Amino acid sequence: MEFEFTQEQKLFREAVREFAKEKIAPFEAEWDRKGEFPRSLFKELAQVGLAGIRIPEKYGGQGADAVTTGVAIEELSRFDFNVANFVIINNILTANVIVEYGSEKLKEMILPGVANGDIVLGIALTEPHCGSDAAAIRTRAVLDGDEWVISGEKSSISMVKYANYFVLYAKTKPEERHRGISAFLVPTNSKNIKFSYFDDVGYRPISRGALKLDEVRVPKEFLIGNLNEGFYYVMKTFDFSKTLLALSCLGAAEQSLEETIEYVKHRYAFDRPIAKFEGIQFKIAEHLTHLEACKLLCYKTLWMKDRGQSIAAQAAMCKWWAPKLAFEIIHDCILMHGNVAYSKDLPHERRMRNVMGIEIGDGTAEIQKIVIGREILGKEYVPYK
Ligand SMILES: Cc1cc2nc3c(=O)[nH]c(=O)nc-3n(C[C@H](O)[C@H](O)[C@H](O)COP(=O)(O)OP(=O)(O)OC[C@H]3O[C@@H](n4cnc5c(N)ncnc54)[C@H](O)[C@@H]3O)c2cc1C
Repeated sequence: MEFEFTQEQKLFREAVREFAKEKIAPFEAEWDRKGEFPRSLFKELAQVGLAGIRIPEKYGGQGADAVTTGVAIEELSRFDFNVANFVIINNILTANVIVEYGSEKLKEMILPGVANGDIVLGIALTEPHCGSDAAAIRTRAVLDGDEWVISGEKSSISMVKYANYFVLYAKTKPEERHRGISAFLVPTNSKNIKFSYFDDVGYRPISRGALKLDEVRVPKEFLIGNLNEGFYYVMKTFDFSKTLLALSCLGAAEQSLEETIEYVKHRYAFDRPIAKFEGIQFKIAEHLTHLEACKLLCYKTLWMKDRGQSIAAQAAMCKWWAPKLAFEIIHDCILMHGNVAYSKDLPHERRMRNVMGIEIGDGTAEIQKIVIGREILGKEYVPYK
């Protein structure tokens, strides 16, 4: 058993930290307030290899392994949770589907642009009537000559302000549930797509919104992978993204906890630093214990992924636990700061709002526990058909 990161991973962590401190941290509050990233950020991320961290080197990316990607996400998230989440959406939830299942033509068309920051991708799965039950989507794709014609509505879709393309899931066999879904690449400048934008609690610069597609036409070659296999692709992708999302929550909580540890050493009450009170020390000790355990679970899951092992159960464990834990830790950090942290002047309230989104996005805790039950007890115990 080996619990050390490699020398390269340690150096990489330092490099990401330096970059994030200089180029991201000074703007984090402003981007949250405006609900928008500057487009130049994507180019800056590309220059340091983060925009295409998981894209194979052949297409201009870094081809990083899963553990190294986790290191980048944890570190970025300490300085801006949303930038870390941009990297997850752009690399794992979307580009990865093209890497794993797309044709050579689609790979050449999309991946170099993602790696160099020119192309931004989003994933469009959820619909107004269904989220947890993703197999119930109603958006339809019908082949008409050399084009797919897509109609339907997508809701709760991240990156709506920036995406050049969506990896969109639609029914190609409506009488089937998960066996009737295919994945498509849909350019956002296609005719007949209308966008609307949400005013969110957290996750603000990522930008969430809805898409209305009314007979949107895309070339036949924009089908990703095989017909009717899209549901399998998205679920496989989620196993990886869920683990990274978990680490993004832990990175934010870790940063809040470290800042709080410094604060309690210098804040006095009853003639002594509040760090001397057991009521403070015990909270910190418990949070550090849980944080350490949850991080180990996340990195073990990524390590398993790098060895080609199935991570369905472990990824679901990371995903239900980490956002909940991060929310609780950051909440307590605010309380340990007293009145000063009940303000937008400190980053803790933003971090708390942000991690709460991941208690829902990519599947709620209840859905993760169903996945764990299925993996451990067997498919015959799944509580639905
Ligand atoms: C910040 C954020 C970003 C997102 N980004 C994207 C995106 O980019 N693309 C995209 O396609 N989607 C995105 N989503 C949507 C997200 O994936 C869904 O919100 C999620 O899958 C839950 O679906 P729902 O919101 O419709 O909740 P519902 O499915 O309506 O669930 C409501 C409640 O019922 C519970 N529930 C449902 N079924 C069961 C069950 N069988 N047993 C017990 N409890 C159950 C749920 O746990 C939840 O508490 C995003 C969501 C958020 C919050």
